[in-house]
Amino acid sequence: SREFKKADTVITFPNGVTIGGPEIQVMAGPCAVESEEQLLYVAERVKKAGAKILRGGAFKPRTSPYTFQGLGEEGLVHLSKAREKTGLLVITELMDPRDLPAMMEHTDIIQIGARNMQNFRLLFDVGEVNKPVLLKRGLSATIKEFLMAAEYIASRGNQEIILCERGIRTFETMTRNTLDLNAVPVLKSLTHLPVLVDPSHGTGRWDLVTPMARAGVAAGCDALMVEVHNNPEQAFSDGEESLKPDKFDRLMEEVRKVASAV
Ligand code: PEP
Ligand code: MN
Repeated sequence: SREFKKADTVITFPNGVTIGGPEIQVMAGPCAVESEEQLLYVAERVKKAGAKILRGGAFKPRTSPYTFQGLGEEGLVHLSKAREKTGLLVITELMDPRDLPAMMEHTDIIQIGARNMQNFRLLFDVGEVNKPVLLKRGLSATIKEFLMAAEYIASRGNQEIILCERGIRTFETMTRNTLDLNAVPVLKSLTHLPVLVDPSHGTGRWDLVTPMARAGVAAGCDALMVEVHNNPEQAFSDGEESLKPDKFDRLMEEVRKVASAV
């Protein structure tokens, strides 16, 4: 909390990229790593647009067990390769502590997904490693519960935590979730941790991603996470909320404009 630490936490990576510093960082890439070619293509495009961090799920927490579950360790290897080729930092989701050693090798930021926000054993485990963690807000979690989940990580020693607002369940059905932008200034006032907005899962609709990315930046977030796919119609997961690379170029331009105004 702010009471414990007044100054903002700034996470600094060995290549000089910071999260929580003056620059808005954008993590972009496909929902799921689908193949080496797909990932490399999207990685090059998001890099060209100005993103410094590549996202892509290797272990996918799907609603149905009969849908694509991710490439697993093979996906992690593709991420490593994309990191090597592009110099981008890499973030991917951890669902099972047994995959933690492989994650330590292949990724720069560990993502804890919304569905695991209160998987306390998993939180303790990532609290004990020396790698930044992106913690996503649970589907129906209050901000208090979200912060207590972050405490599970911090209490084991790892203070490099990024808080992610990714939309919550409400009665509204026009969007997949309701992006709770109130959470941004609330979190910024209560904690010293960097705050990230995910307008892709927050809306579930590609046509709403850019406006809500702009809104997130205007509300004071430190970073964004955006799903980008080379061919959203054929995506293995979350195609309906994924931007084509050309649309992502425009998002980046618009975000830069808002960032320079706030
Ligand atoms: C994701 O980032 O692809 C994801 C599964 O997100 P969430 O945990 O927010 O649903
Ligand atoms: Mn997704």
